Amino acid sequence: MAASQSFEVTIVGGGLGGLCAALSLRRRGLRVTVVEAAAELGEIGAGIQTAPNASRILVGLGLRPELEAIRTQPEDQVRRRWADGGIIAQLPLGQRVIDTYGAPYWHYHRADLHRVLLDACLDADGPGPVVRVATGATVVDLDRSDPLRPAAITADGRRFAGDVLVGADGIRSAVRDLAGFDDTLVFSGEMAYRALIPGETIAADPATRFLLDRYHSTIWYGPDKHLVHYVIRGGQYLNVVAIVPCTETIARDWSGPASAEDLAAEYADWDDRVPAMLAKAKDDVSVWAMYRRRRDPVWVDGRVALLGDACHAMLPYQAQGASQSMEDAAVLAEELGRVTRSGVDDALVRYVDRRAKHAGMVQDASLQNMDFYHLPDGPEQRARDEKLRRFDGESDLSYDWLWSGSPLTDPDTESIHYQFAR
Ligand SMILES: Cc1cc2nc3c(=O)[nH]c(=O)nc-3n(C[C@H](O)[C@H](O)[C@H](O)COP(=O)(O)OP(=O)(O)OC[C@H]3O[C@@H](n4cnc5c(N)ncnc54)[C@H](O)[C@@H]3O)c2cc1C
Repeated sequence: MAASQSFEVTIVGGGLGGLCAALSLRRRGLRVTVVEAAAELGEIGAGIQTAPNASRILVGLGLRPELEAIRTQPEDQVRRRWADGGIIAQLPLGQRVIDTYGAPYWHYHRADLHRVLLDACLDADGPGPVVRVATGATVVDLDRSDPLRPAAITADGRRFAGDVLVGADGIRSAVRDLAGFDDTLVFSGEMAYRALIPGETIAADPATRFLLDRYHSTIWYGPDKHLVHYVIRGGQYLNVVAIVPCTETIARDWSGPASAEDLAAEYADWDDRVPAMLAKAKDDVSVWAMYRRRRDPVWVDGRVALLGDACHAMLPYQAQGASQSMEDAAVLAEELGRVTRSGVDDALVRYVDRRAKHAGMVQDASLQNMDFYHLPDGPEQRARDEKLRRFDGESDLSYDWLWSGSPLTDPDTESIHYQFAR
């Protein structure tokens, strides 16, 4: 770790990307302030997966015990056909992934993962300066009158200046717009239902009990739709993400409430077990329009840098959006952590060099999956299924490439492999 890191970083946005960046920078001795619009930091009630490229970073931050207390480990990835549930392909995860990539494939409740990161940022006894967190602080302006000390200005008039300002404020990033980056937002025409189905109701039905017998990360493929589900909190919930064509209302409003009936009805003509499973959702079903950002390698303007969905929001069809933001965080911290104030500009250039192409490839691969997942039955679908049987990945990116992650130079991160040795 570099010696004299007295400069300050302001991070706008306390989501998974912003907090992972805050903790990574803290670990390298930088003083960090997170400026978050919400009155209370948190995450939505939904699941999230981290493949080894992201788990490696989280474990490298010293969080292994905390993560092991909240994670659920899937044993396989299973791909099924919509009409009869027939298994197209099955890939072992579990220990095989750890042996191959040196880090696990894990599932969590988002709120649990967010809490682990936040606690570590605020832990008075942890290494590095405690992260300052300002809540109820919606950034509405930037003051760049001193280009070396950009400041975020909040709606209630607070001013947060630092040597670097990081926009980690999500897909509709205000920092991005205020700093004058290109408008890269694109609507996909699809929407995602999200639901947490109580594990006990899944267990009580013989038609769905198989979902708890062995933990899987499951993807069902069908015409114009797909469905992803996995267990979190050791069986407390089955997390469901169901992608279907978007309605006009949701395209306009971005998100809205929905019911288990709506959700099950979308899959009424699928294998009986699908509507049986979806109908068990309770009141917390929601639906979200699927927007993404077009690939764009411009992530830095002077001392303002973007991170996470603010620069590379992608469709969730590789389950990699937050994971890529964690890679951003690790690389940004490596680069800023090894320079003094005079080296900040070059460090930011290296951050983008190391990350933008990589994340852009994942954005493109996620987009490719939109068509790949949703083929109608026929020759193209059969060719896809054949590819899935043979190919260790979904798009032109192999899991080997994706799960190895952006190369990191930190010896602590490299040693994680040994932490997981049997
Ligand atoms: C259905 C679905 C499933 C997904 N599954 C996965 C998965 O399994 N694995 C994975 O890696 N990724 C997944 N993703 C992607 C992942 O959710 C996102 O990429 C990730 O949450 C982005 O994190 P972020 O910190 O960049 O942005 P966000 O999580 O959006 O956080 C931005 C933060 O900034 C705050 N903010 C916004 N505007 C302002 C402002 N003006 N001032 C101050 N604060 C502000 C917000 O309140 C928020 O807290 C999925 C996405 C979807 C839609």
